[in-house]
Amino acid sequence: MPEKKQFQAESRRMLELMIHSIYTHKEIFLRELISNASDAIDKRYYLALQSGETGLAREEFAIGLAVDREARTLTIRDNGCGMDAAELESNLGIIARSGSLDFKSTLDDASDVDVIGQFGVGFYSAFMVADEITVRSRKAGSEEAYEWYSQGIEGFTLEKCEKNDVGTEITLKLKDDTDDEHYGRFLEEYGIKELVKRYSDYIRYPIRMAKAIEEDEEEADEGEATEDIPEIETLNSMSPIWRRGKSEVTEDEYARFYKDTFRDMEPPLRVMHASAEGAVDYRALLFLPAKAPYNYYSKDFEKGLKLYASGVMIMEHCKDLLPDCFSFVRGVVDSQDLSLNISREMLQQDRQVAAIARHLEKKIKSELKSLLEEDREAYNSFYRTFGLNLKYALYAGFGMQRELLLDLLQYPSTTQENPVTFSEYISRMPEAQKHIYYATGESAAQIQRLPQCERLTDMGFEVLCLADDIDEFLCKMLWQVEEKELRSISEADEALENEEEKQALEKEREERKKLFEALVKALDGKVSNVVPTTRLKSHPVCLTSGAGISLEMERVLQSQPGAEELPMKAERVLELNINHPIYAKLQALEGDTLGDYASLLYNQALLIEGFPVEDPVAFSNAICRLMV
Ligand code: ADP
Repeated sequence: MPEKKQFQAESRRMLELMIHSIYTHKEIFLRELISNASDAIDKRYYLALQSGETGLAREEFAIGLAVDREARTLTIRDNGCGMDAAELESNLGIIARSGSLDFKSTLDDASDVDVIGQFGVGFYSAFMVADEITVRSRKAGSEEAYEWYSQGIEGFTLEKCEKNDVGTEITLKLKDDTDDEHYGRFLEEYGIKELVKRYSDYIRYPIRMAKAIEEDEEEADEGEATEDIPEIETLNSMSPIWRRGKSEVTEDEYARFYKDTFRDMEPPLRVMHASAEGAVDYRALLFLPAKAPYNYYSKDFEKGLKLYASGVMIMEHCKDLLPDCFSFVRGVVDSQDLSLNISREMLQQDRQVAAIARHLEKKIKSELKSLLEEDREAYNSFYRTFGLNLKYALYAGFGMQRELLLDLLQYPSTTQENPVTFSEYISRMPEAQKHIYYATGESAAQIQRLPQCERLTDMGFEVLCLADDIDEFLCKMLWQVEEKELRSISEADEALENEEEKQALEKEREERKKLFEALVKALDGKVSNVVPTTRLKSHPVCLTSGAGISLEMERVLQSQPGAEELPMKAERVLELNINHPIYAKLQALEGDTLGDYASLLYNQALLIEGFPVEDPVAFSNAICRLMV
């Protein structure tokens, strides 16, 4: 008896999930095994070509299916790269897709449906339908073959076996039928044919099935020489979907291809089917996902397109084909101009690849632009999911991709129900308005309540709402759009003051110099200055920042790791509304009372801006002193 080996802990959990699965699409196991077989053939073919091995023609590769009704088994064979003992043990004993379990553990009450639907589960999905699995494999270039066998959770055995040809053969002993589940359907020719058509039609190697011999034929033929040579039938059309013309592919076929290939539960938001002939020759099928993959905004995420050279897959994630700003796009590219022998390093410098990448970048941009113009709701949905990536890319490139990305940006606004682009904003600007105004905050409604906003709203000016940490940094970097300066409403803004106001302020500054100095002193370093203002309406105070970074930028920078070592401080200026009764009241105060008022006004301004009070106890004491 060969020794029984244990599955790694993660794999056990995944197996458990599979064995007790209530997933309603258990049939996807066949797609997973066929896709593994196809990958294995790709690998063998590719390696053979690279090493100059001859004698292997593409036509000789195939995936075979066979059923044995009596033994209740379904076998999937391929003549791909095969696995040696160590590979059988590690590939099938340790789950590769640990990411899916990480995710699952954060969602304890989620069902297996989430995991299977969102990630696919590869080889292990076979345990949804089988209670025994035997994998016999011989690696290309080796004389030895090994058999891996498992009945599930208890572990697996691994021993040497006989196998005449290179490749892998997986035999599933199907579970017994239950009231709810008819596993026997995977032994029926018709059912299998349908599954292959539905899920694996575009697999580029023939998927062949031995035609079941009809019972009466069997009896009639008894004793004849042809008796057990079953007829062979190819079940899939093998024509990759991207090689077909746009008009020949239905929306449903695109969606199915996308879901199967990129393991997404949802159909794509948009499909881009592109091709070019001439200097660069390629076909591409690109998808805009409706949802971000769970790890999209983490460093685990691998961007890239599947790259085929004349129908042979040479790379799973070719990064060089996709700019970072569009890293969310999934898809395949197939080109006849690429050599199969091309290495990853060479690919990076390949002129064809660079040319295809340039084409695709344009294609994606124009697709997004037309989505924005023609189906705003879909664009808004795209933007909610991936807008942040566009912003990061634009910022990280120091604005190098300004032309590519600027007109794809949009922000909620205080006057519009839906987010607006810069050019939409500019087209609505009243003549008197010189700048593009923005404010940082969670929502347009919240921003609208800011004291600095009141006046702008009265003047009919629109204010853009910046809700992401990166936004203000980005706006500072962009500086201007169509020669209109981007301005935070928290910055001092002379453009808003008329002559009369300017004079009134000048007068206040001179006549109340002492008061302002006393307030600065009372605030003891918290603010760099206290100044009069006319831009507030019903509020007595607001805080603004000087020319450097804003309070919001200070908050973002302070939240970065290592920020303590290099503290970045925004300059704080307290503005007092000279038309507010409190301002008049301040004139008569002095000493500690003036100090308490100063502290209350300062903290009030912080609260309005959405920042916490700096010293809650002192704040509360000051309130008490003024109340008694
Ligand atoms: P994935 O296909 O996503 O890597 P699987 O669990 O389906 O995950 O398979 C794990 C690994 O086992 C594969 O990456 C591959 O290396 C190997 N494998 C599976 N099926 C075959 C096969 N038919 N031939 C060769 N290797 C295979």
